[in-house]
Amino acid sequence: MLRLIQVLALLSLAAVPSASQSAEQIKVYDVTRGGLVMTDKVVRTEAEWKARLTPEQFHILREKGTERQYAGSLWNNHEHGIYRCAGCGLDLFRSEEKYESGTGWPSFYAPVARENVRFEEDNSFFMRRTEVLCPRCGGHLGHVFNDGPAPSGERYCMNGGALTFVKTD
Ligand SMILES: [Zn+2]
Repeated sequence: MLRLIQVLALLSLAAVPSASQSAEQIKVYDVTRGGLVMTDKVVRTEAEWKARLTPEQFHILREKGTERQYAGSLWNNHEHGIYRCAGCGLDLFRSEEKYESGTGWPSFYAPVARENVRFEEDNSFFMRRTEVLCPRCGGHLGHVFNDGPAPSGERYCMNGGALTFVKTD
């Protein structure tokens, strides 16, 4: 009986914000709308990710892999547009903040908004680095270093395979 009451209490709580499933919501910046919006976190099983992503995307996003330098084309892309998460489509970077880092990986001095990236300390490979993840699907994107250009001094060193590019005017 107590259990039933707990379940009912949980159901009523979950029903308050919206009719959708009890997916956790986060606040992110939407480039097209030009403002902050609430969005559901994207949660999938390993099998679901494998079915949706290419083997390369899966390795980078879900297994924290790093692509080879000069792999793909995004490191050398100069088109105007938006770089989105290849896992969930979240807006991550704009061409305005992309720059030539000379590393062979697409590099940016800032994300579209602080809300659109998540940081985690990464001490693998005997290095102290800051990992950059997608806050919506948890996908691994790359690392951020503090040797970037002005005005931020930050260098977001991204895996091109973790991004999809959408050309805009
Ligand atoms: Zn994502």
